[in-house]
Amino acid sequence: MSGVEPCHGVVVCHQAKCRDAPAFDRGSKSRSSLVPSDPRPGDLTGVVRRTACTPESLTPLRLRLSCTKQPVAGDAWIAATRFRNRTDAEVGRELLARVHAQVELAARGEGRAPVVVWDLDYTAYDNDPRMLQVLHDWADHPESIATPEERRAIRGLTPEDMHYLAGDCLREIAGEERARELTEAFLPFFLPRFLGNEYTQIDPLLAGAREMIESLVNAGAVIAFVTGRAEPAQGDGTRAALARDGMAPDGERFHLFLKPFERYPDGSKYADEAFKTATKPEIDALGEVVGTLDNEPENVVAYARMFPNAMNVFVNSRWSNATTEPGDGLWRIDNLAEAVA
Ligand SMILES: [Mg+2]
Repeated sequence: MSGVEPCHGVVVCHQAKCRDAPAFDRGSKSRSSLVPSDPRPGDLTGVVRRTACTPESLTPLRLRLSCTKQPVAGDAWIAATRFRNRTDAEVGRELLARVHAQVELAARGEGRAPVVVWDLDYTAYDNDPRMLQVLHDWADHPESIATPEERRAIRGLTPEDMHYLAGDCLREIAGEERARELTEAFLPFFLPRFLGNEYTQIDPLLAGAREMIESLVNAGAVIAFVTGRAEPAQGDGTRAALARDGMAPDGERFHLFLKPFERYPDGSKYADEAFKTATKPEIDALGEVVGTLDNEPENVVAYARMFPNAMNVFVNSRWSNATTEPGDGLWRIDNLAEAVA
């Protein structure tokens, strides 16, 4: 961090060179009495209120204030999580090296085949174009409640205007209050399409995903796609997209794990984290998990618990605002294209 920056939130250690951006949690107010005796970059070390912080001023704060491992969301989770201090390229090379090492162990009969777990949405695939298409289709739909002016604005949206939530896209064109009405009307149109087989195939791969997966497979890795997409709504669309992209589940190099259902009989959602945790025995059966990649903090933290010896990588694309406990020793990739080894 450089200069003086007014802030109001949680202080993260910047004492050593750290690749992470300055991090201030504007939402979390929780804390414990634990103060790390030997803080490292990324350690959460204090809470400040409306003050001006400089690197120098953080030192006494670091010693004086408390830290938290309470669940936090979004940017606060990134700020509070202790990531390995590696560039994207270094993470990519390390993952490939671990695949090579595990292949050698397996060849000597001392280990099983290396497995790399990949999430799909916002980890391998870019969902922005799918979101945009549903919005555009709604703008043209006779049942849309959008005014002619709002329809024009929606048609003018581009992939760069997308957010994780459709409601946030609408808020930018219609303002907070009107966006609530629009979103309420849009969701019944949006959900069956966005979470349906046809629109699912719109997603392009994120830049670098294909090359990274190819290099892992060529090195001998088994790829397990473990996704919160559910059967039957997105099963066929997902398989078609993977086949189009040369990654059809073949029971050898590529495996696909989809939720068997989206909702329980009582209507509550089968949470992605619960599904991914429940899938562990099937993933284990494929070989030795050397890496996992996911864009959702709660899934990354769950994988770190499930596969503590693997490189558990947070893909910093888009993520939900669900709260989860900060991670420790996680890996991080901001741009897959930079991580292609
Ligand atoms: Mg995802």
